[in-house]
Amino acid sequence: MEENSTEPYVCTDPEKKETCSGECETCPSASVHGKGAGLPEKASIDVRHVILVLSGKGGVGKSTVAVNLAHALSSHGYNTGILDLDLHGPSVPKMLGIDGSRLQTIGDKIEPIRVTGTLSAISMAFLLPETSTPVIWRGPMKMSAIGQFLNDVNWGSLDFLVVDLPPGTGDEALTIAQLAPNVRGAVIVTTPQEVATLETSKAVRFAQKLELPVLGVIENMSGMVCPHCHAEIDVFGRGGGKRMAEKLGVPYLGSIPLDIDMREAGDEGRPAVIRKGSDDPTWKAVDQVMENLIRSVEED
Ligand code: ADP
Repeated sequence: MEENSTEPYVCTDPEKKETCSGECETCPSASVHGKGAGLPEKASIDVRHVILVLSGKGGVGKSTVAVNLAHALSSHGYNTGILDLDLHGPSVPKMLGIDGSRLQTIGDKIEPIRVTGTLSAISMAFLLPETSTPVIWRGPMKMSAIGQFLNDVNWGSLDFLVVDLPPGTGDEALTIAQLAPNVRGAVIVTTPQEVATLETSKAVRFAQKLELPVLGVIENMSGMVCPHCHAEIDVFGRGGGKRMAEKLGVPYLGSIPLDIDMREAGDEGRPAVIRKGSDDPTWKAVDQVMENLIRSVEED
Protein backbone atom coordinates (compact mmCIF):
# COMPACT_ATOMS: atom_id res chain seq x y z
CA MET A 1 0.00 0.00 0.00
CA GLU A 2 1.36 3.48 -0.85
CA GLU A 3 2.14 6.04 1.85
CA ASN A 4 -0.66 8.33 0.59
CA SER A 5 -3.17 5.52 0.16
CA THR A 6 -6.67 6.29 1.38
CA GLU A 7 -7.15 2.71 2.58
CA PRO A 8 -7.25 2.36 6.37
CA TYR A 9 -4.20 1.05 8.17
CA VAL A 10 -4.85 -2.37 9.68
CA CYS A 11 -3.12 -2.76 13.00
CA THR A 12 -2.64 -6.32 14.15
CA ASP A 13 -1.89 -5.47 17.75
CA PRO A 14 -4.98 -6.86 19.50
CA GLU A 15 -4.71 -4.22 22.27
CA LYS A 16 -4.77 -1.28 19.87
CA LYS A 17 -6.33 -2.36 16.64
CA GLU A 18 -9.52 -0.35 17.19
CA THR A 19 -7.68 2.93 17.62
CA CYS A 20 -4.33 2.53 15.88
CA SER A 21 -3.44 4.95 13.10
CA GLY A 22 -0.18 3.18 12.24
CA GLU A 23 1.99 5.85 13.80
CA CYS A 24 2.81 4.18 17.07
CA GLU A 25 6.52 3.29 17.13
CA THR A 26 6.01 0.49 19.60
CA CYS A 27 3.33 -1.17 17.52
CA PRO A 28 4.58 -4.71 16.83
CA SER A 29 2.88 -4.74 13.46
CA ALA A 30 4.52 -1.45 12.40
CA SER A 31 7.91 -3.11 12.58
CA VAL A 32 6.72 -5.89 10.30
CA HIS A 33 4.99 -3.84 7.65
CA GLY A 34 5.39 -0.19 8.55
CA LYS A 35 2.95 2.68 8.61
CA GLY A 36 0.17 2.34 6.11
CA ALA A 37 1.12 -1.13 4.97
CA GLY A 38 -1.29 -4.06 4.88
CA LEU A 39 -0.97 -7.32 6.80
CA PRO A 40 2.29 -9.20 6.14
CA GLU A 41 2.13 -11.98 3.59
CA LYS A 42 1.94 -15.55 4.85
CA ALA A 43 5.21 -17.47 4.58
CA SER A 44 5.63 -20.01 1.79
CA ILE A 45 6.16 -23.06 4.03
CA ASP A 46 4.24 -26.25 3.10
CA VAL A 47 2.66 -27.35 6.38
CA ARG A 48 -0.76 -28.77 7.30
CA HIS A 49 -0.86 -27.82 10.97
CA VAL A 50 1.17 -25.27 12.92
CA ILE A 51 0.92 -25.75 16.69
CA LEU A 52 2.22 -23.04 19.04
CA VAL A 53 3.46 -24.15 22.47
CA LEU A 54 3.10 -21.43 25.09
CA SER A 55 3.37 -21.09 28.84
CA GLY A 56 2.58 -18.31 31.27
CA LYS A 57 5.93 -18.66 33.03
CA GLY A 58 9.34 -20.26 32.57
CA GLY A 59 10.43 -23.58 34.03
CA VAL A 60 7.10 -25.39 33.70
CA GLY A 61 8.51 -27.78 31.09
CA LYS A 62 7.21 -26.06 27.93
CA SER A 63 10.28 -26.98 25.83
CA THR A 64 10.35 -30.53 27.24
CA VAL A 65 6.70 -31.00 26.31
CA ALA A 66 7.23 -29.44 22.84
CA VAL A 67 10.19 -31.74 22.12
CA ASN A 68 8.42 -34.87 23.36
CA LEU A 69 5.21 -34.07 21.48
CA ALA A 70 7.16 -33.41 18.26
CA HIS A 71 9.04 -36.67 18.71
CA ALA A 72 5.84 -38.59 19.46
CA LEU A 73 4.14 -37.14 16.34
CA SER A 74 7.14 -37.98 14.15
CA SER A 75 7.37 -41.52 15.47
CA HIS A 76 3.70 -42.01 14.56
CA GLY A 77 4.71 -41.29 10.95
CA TYR A 78 3.80 -37.60 10.75
CA ASN A 79 6.40 -35.44 9.00
CA THR A 80 7.18 -33.05 11.80
CA GLY A 81 9.26 -29.92 12.24
CA ILE A 82 10.17 -28.30 15.52
CA LEU A 83 10.92 -24.59 15.44
CA ASP A 84 12.61 -23.25 18.55
CA LEU A 85 11.61 -19.60 18.82
CA ASP A 86 12.71 -19.25 22.43
CA LEU A 87 15.36 -16.91 21.02
CA HIS A 88 16.77 -15.92 24.40
CA GLY A 89 16.92 -19.38 25.90
CA PRO A 90 16.91 -21.97 23.11
CA SER A 91 16.95 -25.40 24.77
CA VAL A 92 15.43 -27.60 22.06
CA PRO A 93 18.81 -28.52 20.46
CA LYS A 94 20.20 -29.66 23.81
CA MET A 95 17.08 -31.73 24.49
CA LEU A 96 17.34 -33.37 21.05
CA GLY A 97 21.07 -34.03 21.33
CA ILE A 98 21.88 -31.80 18.34
CA ASP A 99 23.32 -28.79 20.16
CA GLY A 100 26.68 -28.93 18.35
CA SER A 101 24.96 -28.67 14.95
CA ARG A 102 25.38 -25.74 12.58
CA LEU A 103 23.08 -24.78 9.73
CA GLN A 104 24.15 -25.26 6.13
CA THR A 105 22.79 -23.77 2.95
CA ILE A 106 22.13 -25.86 -0.12
CA GLY A 107 21.22 -23.74 -3.15
CA ASP A 108 19.19 -20.86 -1.79
CA LYS A 109 17.69 -22.84 1.11
CA ILE A 110 18.84 -23.45 4.68
CA GLU A 111 18.87 -27.14 5.60
CA PRO A 112 17.18 -27.88 8.94
CA ILE A 113 18.90 -30.35 11.23
CA ARG A 114 17.43 -33.78 10.42
CA VAL A 115 16.91 -35.50 13.78
CA THR A 116 15.22 -38.57 12.28
CA GLY A 117 13.69 -39.36 8.89
CA THR A 118 10.47 -37.62 9.99
CA LEU A 119 11.73 -34.97 12.41
CA SER A 120 13.62 -31.77 11.49
CA ALA A 121 14.62 -28.92 13.76
CA ILE A 122 15.57 -25.26 13.53
CA SER A 123 16.73 -23.18 16.44
CA MET A 124 18.32 -19.83 17.02
CA ALA A 125 21.01 -21.77 18.90
CA PHE A 126 22.35 -23.06 15.57
CA LEU A 127 23.29 -19.50 14.60
CA LEU A 128 25.13 -18.61 17.80
CA PRO A 129 28.91 -18.91 18.10
CA GLU A 130 28.46 -20.54 21.51
CA THR A 131 25.40 -21.76 23.38
CA SER A 132 26.15 -19.27 26.17
CA THR A 133 26.13 -16.29 23.75
CA PRO A 134 23.24 -14.00 24.74
CA VAL A 135 20.87 -12.84 21.97
CA ILE A 136 20.24 -9.11 22.27
CA TRP A 137 17.79 -8.39 19.49
CA ARG A 138 15.13 -5.78 18.98
CA GLY A 139 11.67 -6.74 17.76
CA PRO A 140 12.26 -6.17 14.00
CA MET A 141 15.36 -8.40 14.01
CA LYS A 142 13.45 -11.18 15.69
CA MET A 143 10.66 -10.82 13.16
CA SER A 144 13.05 -10.99 10.26
CA ALA A 145 14.70 -14.14 11.70
CA ILE A 146 11.30 -15.77 12.20
CA GLY A 147 10.36 -14.92 8.59
CA GLN A 148 13.58 -16.58 7.39
CA PHE A 149 13.01 -19.65 9.54
CA LEU A 150 9.67 -20.09 7.75
CA ASN A 151 10.48 -18.99 4.19
CA ASP A 152 14.10 -19.91 3.64
CA VAL A 153 14.34 -23.31 5.33
CA ASN A 154 14.01 -26.54 3.33
CA TRP A 155 11.34 -28.04 5.62
CA GLY A 156 9.88 -30.18 2.84
CA SER A 157 6.22 -31.06 3.18
CA LEU A 158 5.25 -31.08 6.86
CA ASP A 159 2.21 -32.53 8.61
CA PHE A 160 3.02 -30.66 11.83
CA LEU A 161 5.24 -27.74 12.75
CA VAL A 162 5.55 -27.53 16.54
CA VAL A 163 6.71 -24.06 17.62
CA ASP A 164 8.34 -23.63 21.03
CA LEU A 165 7.75 -20.01 22.07
CA PRO A 166 9.34 -18.05 24.92
CA PRO A 167 7.38 -17.97 28.18
CA GLY A 168 4.97 -15.09 28.62
CA THR A 169 3.36 -12.86 26.06
CA GLY A 170 5.97 -11.59 23.63
CA ASP A 171 6.45 -10.49 20.02
CA GLU A 172 7.46 -13.94 18.83
CA ALA A 173 3.94 -15.36 19.25
CA LEU A 174 2.40 -12.38 17.47
CA THR A 175 4.86 -12.67 14.59
CA ILE A 176 4.48 -16.40 14.05
CA ALA A 177 0.69 -16.07 14.25
CA GLN A 178 0.88 -13.45 11.49
CA LEU A 179 3.43 -15.12 9.25
CA ALA A 180 2.77 -18.85 9.44
CA PRO A 181 -0.02 -20.43 7.38
CA ASN A 182 -2.42 -22.97 8.91
CA VAL A 183 -1.83 -21.99 12.54
CA ARG A 184 -4.32 -24.30 14.26
CA GLY A 185 -3.83 -22.74 17.66
CA ALA A 186 -1.91 -22.79 20.91
CA VAL A 187 -1.33 -25.40 23.56
CA ILE A 188 -0.55 -24.00 26.98
CA VAL A 189 1.77 -25.87 29.32
CA THR A 190 1.46 -25.38 33.06
CA THR A 191 2.41 -27.08 36.30
CA PRO A 192 -0.36 -27.86 38.81
CA GLN A 193 0.31 -25.29 41.52
CA GLU A 194 -1.67 -22.06 41.75
CA VAL A 195 1.24 -19.68 41.06
CA ALA A 196 1.68 -21.39 37.70
CA THR A 197 -1.97 -21.76 36.77
CA LEU A 198 -2.61 -18.05 37.44
CA GLU A 199 0.04 -17.23 34.82
CA THR A 200 -1.52 -19.85 32.55
CA SER A 201 -4.77 -17.95 32.50
CA LYS A 202 -2.81 -14.92 31.18
CA ALA A 203 -1.32 -17.08 28.41
CA VAL A 204 -4.82 -18.34 27.50
CA ARG A 205 -6.13 -14.76 27.34
CA PHE A 206 -3.09 -13.70 25.30
CA ALA A 207 -3.80 -16.45 22.74
CA GLN A 208 -7.44 -15.41 22.64
CA LYS A 209 -6.46 -11.77 22.02
CA LEU A 210 -4.32 -12.91 19.10
CA GLU A 211 -7.45 -14.70 17.87
CA LEU A 212 -5.63 -18.03 18.17
CA PRO A 213 -7.80 -21.01 19.12
CA VAL A 214 -6.65 -22.57 22.38
CA LEU A 215 -6.22 -26.25 21.50
CA GLY A 216 -5.83 -27.12 25.15
CA VAL A 217 -3.96 -26.98 28.44
CA ILE A 218 -1.35 -29.61 29.40
CA GLU A 219 -0.50 -30.14 33.07
CA ASN A 220 3.18 -31.07 33.35
CA MET A 221 4.96 -32.36 36.48
CA SER A 222 1.61 -33.67 37.63
CA GLY A 223 2.33 -36.03 40.52
CA MET A 224 5.23 -38.49 40.63
CA VAL A 225 5.85 -42.07 41.61
CA CYS A 226 8.56 -42.31 44.27
CA PRO A 227 11.39 -44.39 42.77
CA HIS A 228 12.04 -45.93 46.22
CA CYS A 229 8.69 -46.71 47.80
CA HIS A 230 6.57 -46.43 44.59
CA ALA A 231 3.99 -44.31 46.41
CA GLU A 232 2.41 -41.47 44.42
CA ILE A 233 3.51 -38.03 45.64
CA ASP A 234 1.91 -34.79 44.44
CA VAL A 235 5.01 -32.58 44.61
CA PHE A 236 3.34 -29.56 43.01
CA GLY A 237 -0.23 -30.67 43.70
CA ARG A 238 -2.43 -32.11 40.99
CA GLY A 239 -5.40 -31.06 38.89
CA GLY A 240 -4.68 -27.30 38.83
CA GLY A 241 -4.29 -27.31 35.04
CA LYS A 242 -7.56 -29.13 34.52
CA ARG A 243 -9.42 -26.81 36.89
CA MET A 244 -7.96 -23.78 35.11
CA ALA A 245 -8.95 -25.17 31.70
CA GLU A 246 -12.51 -25.78 32.93
CA LYS A 247 -12.72 -22.31 34.47
CA LEU A 248 -11.55 -20.68 31.23
CA GLY A 249 -13.73 -22.91 29.04
CA VAL A 250 -10.83 -24.33 27.00
CA PRO A 251 -10.01 -28.02 26.34
CA TYR A 252 -7.78 -30.04 28.65
CA LEU A 253 -5.29 -32.25 26.81
CA GLY A 254 -4.01 -34.27 29.77
CA SER A 255 -1.20 -34.52 32.28
CA ILE A 256 2.42 -35.66 32.23
CA PRO A 257 4.00 -36.83 35.52
CA LEU A 258 7.10 -35.45 37.20
CA ASP A 259 9.63 -38.09 36.22
CA ILE A 260 13.35 -38.08 36.98
CA ASP A 261 13.95 -39.85 33.65
CA MET A 262 12.28 -36.95 31.87
CA ARG A 263 14.79 -34.51 33.35
CA GLU A 264 17.72 -36.85 32.68
CA ALA A 265 16.50 -37.41 29.13
CA GLY A 266 16.41 -33.64 28.54
CA ASP A 267 19.95 -33.20 29.82
CA GLU A 268 21.16 -36.22 27.89
CA GLY A 269 19.61 -35.15 24.59
CA ARG A 270 17.41 -38.22 24.16
CA PRO A 271 13.74 -37.29 24.59
CA ALA A 272 11.94 -39.41 27.17
CA VAL A 273 9.58 -40.76 24.50
CA ILE A 274 12.48 -42.56 22.79
CA ARG A 275 14.36 -43.35 25.97
CA LYS A 276 11.40 -45.17 27.50
CA GLY A 277 9.34 -48.13 26.36
CA SER A 278 5.69 -47.89 25.32
CA ASP A 279 4.56 -49.60 28.56
CA ASP A 280 6.00 -46.76 30.66
CA PRO A 281 3.45 -44.42 32.35
CA THR A 282 5.25 -41.24 31.19
CA TRP A 283 5.43 -42.52 27.60
CA LYS A 284 1.71 -43.36 27.77
CA ALA A 285 0.92 -39.91 29.20
CA VAL A 286 2.75 -38.11 26.35
CA ASP A 287 1.10 -40.38 23.78
CA GLN A 288 -2.36 -39.67 25.25
CA VAL A 289 -1.71 -35.91 25.18
CA MET A 290 -0.56 -36.22 21.54
CA GLU A 291 -3.73 -38.12 20.58
CA ASN A 292 -5.91 -35.54 22.31
CA LEU A 293 -4.00 -32.78 20.51
CA ILE A 294 -4.52 -34.41 17.11
CA ARG A 295 -8.24 -34.74 17.93
CA SER A 296 -8.40 -31.09 18.99
CA VAL A 297 -6.66 -29.99 15.74
CA GLU A 298 -8.95 -32.12 13.59
CA GLU A 299 -12.09 -30.86 15.32
CA ASP A 300 -10.96 -27.27 14.81
P1 ADP B 1 10.48 -24.28 30.14
O1 ADP B 1 10.61 -24.48 28.64
O2 ADP B 1 9.06 -24.14 30.58
O3 ADP B 1 11.35 -23.20 30.67
P2 ADP B 1 11.96 -26.77 30.34
O4 ADP B 1 11.27 -27.64 29.36
O5 ADP B 1 13.26 -26.15 29.95
O6 ADP B 1 10.97 -25.62 30.85
O7 ADP B 1 12.10 -27.63 31.67
C1 ADP B 1 12.73 -27.12 32.83
C2 ADP B 1 13.41 -28.28 33.55
O8 ADP B 1 12.42 -29.18 34.05
C3 ADP B 1 14.32 -29.11 32.65
O9 ADP B 1 15.45 -29.51 33.39
C4 ADP B 1 13.47 -30.32 32.27
O10 ADP B 1 14.26 -31.48 31.99
C5 ADP B 1 12.67 -30.51 33.55
N1 ADP B 1 11.35 -31.14 33.30
C6 ADP B 1 10.39 -30.72 32.47
N2 ADP B 1 9.32 -31.53 32.52
C7 ADP B 1 9.62 -32.51 33.41
C8 ADP B 1 8.94 -33.66 33.91
N3 ADP B 1 7.70 -33.98 33.52
N4 ADP B 1 9.59 -34.43 34.83
C9 ADP B 1 10.84 -34.12 35.26
N5 ADP B 1 11.53 -33.06 34.83
C10 ADP B 1 10.93 -32.25 33.92
